[in-house]
Amino acid sequence: MASMSSKPRQREFESGDSSLYKPAMPMNRELIEILACPKCKGPLELTPNESAFVCRACRLVYAVVDEIPNFIVEEAQPLEG
Ligand SMILES: [Zn+2]
Repeated sequence: MASMSSKPRQREFESGDSSLYKPAMPMNRELIEILACPKCKGPLELTPNESAFVCRACRLVYAVVDEIPNFIVEEAQPLEG
């Protein structure tokens, strides 16, 4: 009897307990840490509401539109304060 044939596709959908990866949040922390300012290549800070990235060295704010950071220097806003 050849009833031992398994379905290899099932392995792709492991619904384990560990939900470390959050698909609803594309900008994960590891990605943010490797992001650099396109102007000075310095570190960027994500604002608390995650609506923009801030380069304190350049004093520029790169807006995040539709969860996509806009790293065009010409479109960055000056950092207030
Ligand atoms: Zn910069």
